[in-house]
This record gives sequence, C-alpha cells and structure tokens, in this order.
Amino acid sequence: MSQAPMTLDMFIHGEWHAGSSGDRIEVMNPAKGELLATVPDGGQDEIDRAVESAHEGLAAWRATHPRQRSKVLYQIATTLQERAEEFATLYTLNSGSSMWTGLWTMNDVAGRRFEYYAGMADKIRGDTFVTPGEYLSYTLREPVGVTGHIIPWNGPLWIGSRTIAPALAAGNAVVIKPSKEAPLTLLKFAEMATECGLPPGVLNVVTGRGSTMGDRFAGHPGFDGIYFTGSTATGRRIMEQSAGNEVHSVMELGGKSPNIVFEDCDMESALDGAIMAIFANSGQICVAGSRLLVQESIHDEFVEKLVARARDVKIGGPDAGALMGPVITARQKERILDYIESGRAEAELVTGGGTPPDPELQDGYFLEPTIFDRVPNGARIAREEIFGPVLSVTSFVDQDEAVMLANDTDYGLASAVWTENLMRAHQMAEAIEAGQVYVNHYYTAAFEISRSSYKASGHGISEGPDAINEYLTHKAVSIKTGESSWE
Ligand code: NAP
Repeated sequence: MSQAPMTLDMFIHGEWHAGSSGDRIEVMNPAKGELLATVPDGGQDEIDRAVESAHEGLAAWRATHPRQRSKVLYQIATTLQERAEEFATLYTLNSGSSMWTGLWTMNDVAGRRFEYYAGMADKIRGDTFVTPGEYLSYTLREPVGVTGHIIPWNGPLWIGSRTIAPALAAGNAVVIKPSKEAPLTLLKFAEMATECGLPPGVLNVVTGRGSTMGDRFAGHPGFDGIYFTGSTATGRRIMEQSAGNEVHSVMELGGKSPNIVFEDCDMESALDGAIMAIFANSGQICVAGSRLLVQESIHDEFVEKLVARARDVKIGGPDAGALMGPVITARQKERILDYIESGRAEAELVTGGGTPPDPELQDGYFLEPTIFDRVPNGARIAREEIFGPVLSVTSFVDQDEAVMLANDTDYGLASAVWTENLMRAHQMAEAIEAGQVYVNHYYTAAFEISRSSYKASGHGISEGPDAINEYLTHKAVSIKTGESSWE
C-alpha cells in the first residue's frame, strides 16, 4: 500500500525552515515511481541564512573542548547505529537500494566513520621544528572554518559521513546541500545529530536544485572550504564558482574503473567479483568496475560464465533481497538506455539491454544487467561514466597491454586486479593510475585507509587518518627565545 507523501523542511540553526519561496521539490520512490516526499526548493535566502548560522555555530563548536567534541561525535555514531533501521528504511525508500545496504550504511559506514573520527577529535596536534637562531617554532592546527558540502544522491549518508565526520571532528561548522533526488536521510540526520549535542548552527542542511541553488552555494563567499562529491562535470563547475573565494577543497568525482582479470586468477572468485563490481546498487557506485579487462586466453570461458551469472542476478525493490534495485530517476533510466543504444553500434551486446520483463517491476525505474563484449577502448561506453548496470568487456594479451588499457582513461578513481601471482599483483598496484587498487576482491570496506584520486576523478584525501588534514589549517608560530636571530 502506498504511503502518504512526507513533508520535510530544511534544517538550519537547529530548527526546521520551510523556505522563503514556498516552492517545493518532489522526491520520488524510484522502486515504485511514486511521490515519496516534498522538500523546500531553496535559494539565496536560505544559503545566506545557513552560512550565517554556521558562523555562529563555528564559534560555539571551536570553543567546545575537543574531548567534549569527541563525546558528541561518539554519541552521534551510537545513536545512528541504534536507529539504524529507521534511517535505513528512509534511505531505501528514497534510493531503491536494498535494506541490507541501508543497514550496513548506518551501522558500518556512517556509524563507523563517526566512531572513527570521534577518536581523532581530541588527538589533533601540531609539530615543533628546528629553525636557525633562538626560536621556539611550532604549528597550531586549526579548523578551516565554515565548510560547504555538496552530496550526490547515491548514498547520501554513506558519502555524506565521509566529509561531515572529519569536518566536525576538526572543529568546523558544516552546511550541506544534498541532491534534490535524495535529501531525506541527511535532513533527519542533522536533526538527530543536533539532539546528540551539536550546538545550533554547527550542522545545517539546505535543500534546492543543483541547477539553481548549486552555483550560489558553491560560490558563496561565506565558505572557507568546499567539499564536493559528484560528477566530474559538476566538480569542475564548482571549482570555477568557488575560485574567487580561495577556499580549501576536496573533489571526489567520477570514475570508469578497470577490473582486470588475469589467466592465473581464481576464476570463480573473479566472476563473483565482476558481478558485484558492476551490478551492486545497479552500478550506481562511483568506484563500480565498469570496464572489465580479461586476458584473451580465458576470455571466451570467462565471458560465457559471466553472462550466465548476470542472467541470474536478482532484481527488485528494497525488500526483495535483490542485488539490483532501480536506478534513481526515470531520467537516469533514459540516459542509461541511450548509452546502451550507442553501445549496440560499437560492440557486441551479449546480455540485457532493456527493462526486465517482470510485471512487478514496470512502475519503478528498473534495468536489466547489461554486458557488452569486444568493446574497443575508444568506444563511448568504455570512456564515459554511465553510472548504471552496464559493463564493457575488453580483452588484453599480456600484462603490458593490461596496464596500457587500464590507464587509457580520463579517470583514476579505483581498480581491481585478479591474479594468484603475488609479484604481478604488486607490479600492477604500482602501475595503475588510480586512487584504489583491490587485489582479488572488489570494493573495500576499510574506511581506515587514506586515499586520493588520480586525473579527472578529483583531488584531496578521503578516509583514514590523513583525511582530517583536509579540514585543518597549519598555522606556523615562532617565538623568540634568545638573542641569536635567523642570520
Ligand atoms: P552530480 O550531478 O554532479 O550532482 C552532485 C551534487 O551536485 C548534487 O547535490 C547536485 O544537486 C549538485 N549540483 C548539480 N549542479 C550543481 C552546481 N552547478 N553547483 C553546485 N552543485 C550542483 O552527480 P550525481 O548524478 O548526483 O551523482 C553521480 C556522480 O557522483 C557520478 O559521477 C559518481 O561517480 C559521482 N560520485 C563520486 C564519488 C566519489 O567518491 N568519487 C562518490 C559518489 C558519487 P542536484 O542533484 O540537486 O542537482
């Protein structure tokens, strides 16, 4: 039975705000193609208000002892884990992802990140330096200030926690602009986090359309840092919009990640990995293994088995226990179908290519798992990020050709290598130009590992202990302690 649509407002300075224009954005349930909620269609007024509120929040949060900040972040982690089912339900309704993914996100991704950075909040420290003359020289580490976070629709808390948790741990205030497609969990999260002890204004969420609110947000002079996750095209636009403000920034952008299978792999594991890499969350994962590179000597056997497995992939809504849910919007489905159409002219379609026939799936935005074989590396489907369940398979003869194909891309987000040869694994890990290399598995759940991206996949450090540095400044202090000076 359908639910009545929810009405959620923006969360600014610890309170709900309906927005000055009165206009609302419709948020859909992609598994059913029906209205799930409305949120305010915000603009300049709301951004100004949220940034002003964040400056007030910043003063209070900076004055909070780091040990107390740590306790608040830990409380956020614990509360999110206690309320995981409620947040996971909201997330799956808004994204179409499986309930399993939702619970994992709340407990082990977002909850875990807040735990992790809670532990770092009271361990931020500078260094002392040996300098000429008689001086005591050291660095003070200070928060960047008011930070703006722009989050995509695929996993708002999954992605959002990656920048929000270290930003808060470092003592910054945060204003978030979630995607108009999936703002619900971040709105409820901001309320929950404030109840956990964040002073008003430390965490604000404004809703609006990227096409209208986005530029005003990214270019707002009140921000000291901009932390963006989304497509490369939007990231470039945001860098232009914010260039005049000299802000700190981290850009987590798109990918077209190679998943490389050598003849000396454990084939069963590599097949499972290849399916997960592209079809989990219907390929709507930035690090999805969307380019499968298979050694020619095993190509035919591998692709035949892969196609058989792809045809068995379960497709369904959040409660179906399916690997593949819907894609996020009807527009995104059309966009992916357009890529599939262009792929038909460039390569061999070996499975999928349309909407699954199941009558139960006709209202939602579902697609079949789709595989193209013999894809030239210059083909559009091999070069552009599709962000859907579409895999390109290309073969290679030897390791040198595998490296050449893997790196012949504009992107450098992630990669995987399947081999039982340890020396080859190390050589490939060094040769691939990507921020992540998985060996004999796909996707890492280790948020404790620091990483960055290559090429058009962005810049800055995400995850792990080093990410906190993106939210801190180095202030150099030198105190004269004697008569001898620099000369
Ligand atoms: P997107 O179209 O680039 O949008 C990302 C965010 O930017 C959304 O909140 C969007 O708002 C906003 N936005 C759009 N135009 C803007 C503008 N002119 N100024 C400021 N903000 C603007 O990306 P998406 O389709 O939501 O997400 C998919 C993309 O994100 C893929 O490319 C994927 O690879 C990438 N991604 C990367 C990572 C990573 O860690 N590297 C992780 C996840 C996703 P609206 O939605 O309201 O328009």
